[in-house]
Amino acid sequence: MSEATLAITDFTGTLLRSGDTGYDEARRVFNGLIDSKPALIARCTSTSDVAAAVRHARENNLTVSVYGGGHGVTGAAVAEGSLCVDLRGLKSVDVDPDSRTVRAGGGLTWGELDAATQEHGLAVTGGRVPSTGIAGLALGSGSGWIERKCGFTCDNLLAAEVVTADGNVVTASETDNADLFWGLRGGGGNFGIVTQFTFQLHEVGPMVWGGMLIYPPQRAAEVARAYRDFVLTAPDEVGSGLAFVTAPDAEFVPEPARGHPMVGIICCYLGRPEDGPTAYAPLLALEPAMVMADVMPYAAVQGLIEPGNQKGFMNYWTADFYDELPDEAIDTLVEIATQPVSAMTQIIVVPGGGAIARVDDDAMALGSRQAAFNLHFLGMWADPAETQRNIDYIRNLAGSLKPWSTGAAYLNFLGDEGISRIEASFGPAKFARLQELKSKWDPTNLFRHNQNIPPAPNIPAPR
Ligand SMILES: Cc1cc2nc3c(=O)[nH]c(=O)nc-3n(C[C@H](O)[C@H](O)[C@H](O)COP(=O)(O)OP(=O)(O)OC[C@H]3O[C@@H](n4cnc5c(N)ncnc54)[C@H](O)[C@@H]3O)c2cc1C
Repeated sequence: MSEATLAITDFTGTLLRSGDTGYDEARRVFNGLIDSKPALIARCTSTSDVAAAVRHARENNLTVSVYGGGHGVTGAAVAEGSLCVDLRGLKSVDVDPDSRTVRAGGGLTWGELDAATQEHGLAVTGGRVPSTGIAGLALGSGSGWIERKCGFTCDNLLAAEVVTADGNVVTASETDNADLFWGLRGGGGNFGIVTQFTFQLHEVGPMVWGGMLIYPPQRAAEVARAYRDFVLTAPDEVGSGLAFVTAPDAEFVPEPARGHPMVGIICCYLGRPEDGPTAYAPLLALEPAMVMADVMPYAAVQGLIEPGNQKGFMNYWTADFYDELPDEAIDTLVEIATQPVSAMTQIIVVPGGGAIARVDDDAMALGSRQAAFNLHFLGMWADPAETQRNIDYIRNLAGSLKPWSTGAAYLNFLGDEGISRIEASFGPAKFARLQELKSKWDPTNLFRHNQNIPPAPNIPAPR
């Protein structure tokens, strides 16, 4: 490393290099498969630190990676040899209950943001696991249990403070740098580093009817069909997801079910809590083996699947949108998803519709508004020797369902699937528009460690 990288002008945070105390801990991300070593980790404490780090990267020929919450499954947050701009010190949170907005630092997690907004009975659609960063999630769409009522996270973004590739600080909103604002909402980390987010909040809870309904795997096909039919006409207040998981070895699980595949329906109702059982009556009528749903804090629903999502295990993920899930698709899904090769793997069916379908497809980078379902294929395992087997399993499952998929996905759940997958997710016209935007805001592709949209034409600029 050149002498120039040993200090950053105007930087007030902490710099870590290989060998420094804290370096190895700082470069760890959620996905235990990732063991990348950034040239430098710049632990920022302010927007000006972020700007100083970006300028330093440019001047020293380093690429930039960005660490929000470290949940990106590809591990791009800590790219090998990069200058890692670590935002975990940017934790400010300022809720304005009158305007129902929150201004939130780019290093917050969903658990931290939910805690602050729930003090006022407010929330913005957020990640289903509290340790996920708000930044990466919001920029790549932002799917959560309440999205059919409140929209995706990016639909609720009102403004962003952005450090651009030239090291300047700008505001992006409908009125300021509207083109950048369009790209930030669904285009991921391609156009700059967001240091502050302003979100629209909604009245949520703090008590909701929610939890999980659990069915045995033998009834998976029947339950999945009934769930599909139920959510297609359910009101916006009905938040849910259908999950193929393995029952944990825990006391609350009846002995014979422990360690075996099961089908769960996660519920989060935004109507009056006392009306929850009526709202989900068709699913309760299927006589779940266990009903673990009741009136509970919204924050508790947000934490429901956290125990199965701990940092450090191996992960391989992908996702797909579907316009419909006919019986044949459900049978294919059930056959493979009820025979996981790892007990940690989760396959989640999330319904579309509601508020997310009422946004025009061209309103922002994120499209696929009319897709009726989204499937998250989340492969997770503990034994490194099982890696290929697990990757093959996820590829086979997602591949078997391709005949019904639209070919699109939002960036948040994609693995390293190449530029053609990213282009397919936006469609050619929108992808071309995003490339033009990239050419304007980051012509040298400084921000390339992400689901990358290269500047137009389709060739990354040499550095
Ligand atoms: C356990 C788990 C649960 C999840 N649940 C959900 C869910 O419910 N809904 C959902 O939509 N997604 C979910 N995801 C996917 C998640 O949204 C993406 O992985 C997202 O990228 C994570 O953001 P992060 O800031 O934690 O990640 P990081 O790894 O820190 O960042 C990922 C990428 O985002 C970009 N980025 C991050 N911060 C910034 C910033 N401030 N400015 C510019 N670019 C930035 C960078 O390109 C970076 O490489 C989940 C992921 C995990 C691991």
